[in-house]
Amino acid sequence: MKVTFLGLGAIGTPMAVHLSEDPFELTVWNRTGEKAREFAEEHGVYAEESPAGAVSEADIVITCLPSSREVESMLDGIVSRIPRGALMIDCTSGDPATSRRIAARLAEKGVGFVDAPVSGGVKGAVAGTLTVMCGGSEKDVERARPVLEAFGKKIVRCGEIGAGDAVKAMNQALLAIHIWSAGEALATLAKLGVDAEVALDVINGSSGRSNSSENLFPERVIGRKYPRTFKIALLDKDVGIASGIVAETGTPAPFIDLAAKLFSEAHQLLGEEADHVEAVRVIEDKAGVRIS
Ligand code: NDP
Repeated sequence: MKVTFLGLGAIGTPMAVHLSEDPFELTVWNRTGEKAREFAEEHGVYAEESPAGAVSEADIVITCLPSSREVESMLDGIVSRIPRGALMIDCTSGDPATSRRIAARLAEKGVGFVDAPVSGGVKGAVAGTLTVMCGGSEKDVERARPVLEAFGKKIVRCGEIGAGDAVKAMNQALLAIHIWSAGEALATLAKLGVDAEVALDVINGSSGRSNSSENLFPERVIGRKYPRTFKIALLDKDVGIASGIVAETGTPAPFIDLAAKLFSEAHQLLGEEADHVEAVRVIEDKAGVRIS
């Protein structure tokens, strides 16, 4: 099966590694061509100089770009080159409305579409244990499944096109709320002189724990190591999508709206390259205290 992967970023690269093995025949493209050439040499696959060239013989095209905006822009150059009958799987954490527009344009050319954002981070991508949330027809999702299984463990059809993006956006809103609220709790406890490691140990044995408190805070906030695995710019984008969805659906959701506002401010303060958990630095600055 000929698979083309467009976008060798922090998470796209380890996902593509799994597709460099049999039964897939992999072609990669990346905006910074050097990365694609190095990847191709290391993993014995093809690298193309243009997205149009990369998709021209594909059965399956996978995109993993920052947002749906970049995917939609890329479509102009590739839509006439993707073979009729192919399937495009967009692993970008995208927005449902843009995914529906993309799917409609592809459908005119006889190309299927599944929005398939992932969760589990770079570690999960390396281990091949990502959760993949899919939106699309049952037939297209079943067709995508063997490809998604190369890097995913839990692959779920959430509904029609855009449903995968919507579930992912809500997951990201919860992640943002967990990070921010744990940061506030630990900053407050630091002011009372409670050691952050002790506090986290108690919380992680109690009902206030989350993936953030269990897996992100020990290394990044207590250890003050902030590996740049997932940019705050991307989480800001994700929570913005979630906030847009709650507005569209008329759902009162003040927590999600506030998370969008706080992460937008933190993104502006910390810049494009900061990791998402570095938002806790902003809480520390506002509170005038260091958690650890
Ligand atoms: P990165 O910023 O590391 O990589 C982005 C990729 O998109 C790079 O290949 C980059 O190319 C390419 N790109 C950026 N702008 C354009 C453009 N205008 N046209 C074409 N290509 C472009 O992002 P991640 O890999 O971290 O994230 C990718 C997607 O996966 C995002 O939607 C993110 O929200 C999602 N995601 C990320 C996770 C993570 O832990 N990192 C976890 C789960 C989901 P270049 O190399 O030239 O910069």
